[in-house]
Amino acid sequence: MSTPPSLQNLINALKVLPGVGPKSAQRMAFHLVQRDPAGAVQLAQAIIDAQGRLQHCKLCNTFCETELCDICQDEQRHHGQLCVVEMPTDLWSIEATRAYEGLYFVLMGRLSPLDGIGVDDIALKPLLARALDGEVSEVILATNFTTEGEATAYYLSELLRARGLRVSRIARGLPVGGELEHADPATLAQALIERRHSE
Ligand code: ZN
Repeated sequence: MSTPPSLQNLINALKVLPGVGPKSAQRMAFHLVQRDPAGAVQLAQAIIDAQGRLQHCKLCNTFCETELCDICQDEQRHHGQLCVVEMPTDLWSIEATRAYEGLYFVLMGRLSPLDGIGVDDIALKPLLARALDGEVSEVILATNFTTEGEATAYYLSELLRARGLRVSRIARGLPVGGELEHADPATLAQALIERRHSE
């Protein structure tokens, strides 16, 4: 007995998700079509909507539905400070602290040579262009305290300092291996306040 083509298509489509193998994809597909057909339609529509509407902010590279995101458009923010994070979730975590009033740049990843993610796979060129636009006076590196996050911070620090920018790294109030999105707002706020400037 062969799998109906549309069901096989759905299973194959679900396998694009990270960490989802053939068995999980099958379970998800059965669940969607058998147990939750309304949810399945909602999911399909949400994917199409998000894919159609989302773009990257021209200044900070985060996801938004307009050319510039709300934060970049906000005149009240300190436009001389640029906080570099790995993902939009990190930006949201820092925003939740209410301790930071500057702007952001979202790399959409981190350097991870073992996974084949090199300097061409994260938004390095746009970051350089943004950091050197004459408006930015301090770059705060807020990548995670994981091996990859630290390596990314080190690389960026060298790159940006070589171009005469003032660079700081958020302080280690966070545990080693810690990811920003799991830190509580108070700890993260303290890490921002105690950020260290490179010599
Ligand atoms: Zn933006």
